[in-house]
Amino acid sequence: MTSTPAIAVTHAGGQLAPTTIERRELRPDDVQIDIAYAGICHSDIHQAKDEWGGSVFPMVPGHEIAGTVAAVGPDVTKYRVGDRVGVGCMVNSCGECDYCREGYEQFCVKGNIQTYNGVDYDGAHTYGGYSQQIVVKEGFVCGIPEGIELDVAAPLLCAGITTFSPLQHWGAGPGKKVAVVGLGGLGHMGVKIAAAMGAEVTVLSQSLKKQEDGLRLGAKHYYATEDSSTFDTLRGQFDIVLNTVSAKLPIDAYLSTLRVGGAMVNVGAPSEPLEYSAFSLIGGNKVLTGSMIGGIAETQRMLDFCAEHHVGSEIETISADQVNEAYQRVEDSDVRYRFVIDTSTL
Ligand code: NAP
Ligand code: ZN
Repeated sequence: MTSTPAIAVTHAGGQLAPTTIERRELRPDDVQIDIAYAGICHSDIHQAKDEWGGSVFPMVPGHEIAGTVAAVGPDVTKYRVGDRVGVGCMVNSCGECDYCREGYEQFCVKGNIQTYNGVDYDGAHTYGGYSQQIVVKEGFVCGIPEGIELDVAAPLLCAGITTFSPLQHWGAGPGKKVAVVGLGGLGHMGVKIAAAMGAEVTVLSQSLKKQEDGLRLGAKHYYATEDSSTFDTLRGQFDIVLNTVSAKLPIDAYLSTLRVGGAMVNVGAPSEPLEYSAFSLIGGNKVLTGSMIGGIAETQRMLDFCAEHHVGSEIETISADQVNEAYQRVEDSDVRYRFVIDTSTL
């Protein structure tokens, strides 16, 4: 076991505070990573406050991890010491079920093992990226291509893949109109990635406060949903509505903005149930669906896509002592557009 500095929360809704955790000895197929940066995802906040239920404490959050390989086990073939790598939301899965074999490890029938707030198959609790080191099975490590710095790459490991996967699945590309709801961590990546895919992108934000940014990030249009005329203006417009909002939204209003056959994809994960009228779907053969991160091979494809299209996250780098304040700013929709912890400050 090796000790590594980290920040942890000890009870639901508590403050994050410095601590030390143990990482396991390298197994033959393990990669030991010196973490350089860890992004703060709103899922970290949901779980640190136990908003989804079932949280296990103490918790070291963090599933947007970027760093360099410090050591490898004897059976590791893909990575060498010094390689730039990332780890996202999962660190293990059974590897044998249909979903794992098809590259959908997130849907493993035995249950994928979350990077933190999870219990691995050997009974060990998992601790995430708000720390200086992590040990992860090779198959759950992705390579960060040259051309993306580690700080702006970290958020791609969750915010990037969570938006890339449904955008690709539902056909974002030239000739397609995509609305991104909520311009936060996921939303700003959704805008950048959909624009890089060639789609015509519209931001639907609560207010016009971030309009300049939205357009700079690649959106063609920007509307404030607090303006009640917005939904009349946008009726029947979009092929895809990507909902990244962490709170309950009036789903029917957003479904009204879809074209016939269009799809609204929820990636936002509010604790409250969403409600909609069956007629909002029936009148236009519309699809209301969800999407959960992406598989490991797909995450690597996303990283390669982002490198090729010069897409990184817009970040505000913070030190360990600013994390509690950053959590509050994320909850206040005041993140521009992802906080990334410089783990050398732990
Ligand atoms: P975030 O940075 O806080 O962004 C969410 C954005 O939603 C805010 O910036 C805000 O944008 C908008 N918003 C917030 N409260 C709102 C409200 N009451 N009404 C309308 N809009 C509101 O959060 P994130 O890190 O992007 O994560 C977003 C959600 O996705 C979270 O629930 C997270 O748990 C979930 N998530 C899901 C997956 C998955 O696999 N499906 C993966 C990662 C995260 P505007 O100010 O522009 O309106
Ligand atoms: Zn996340």
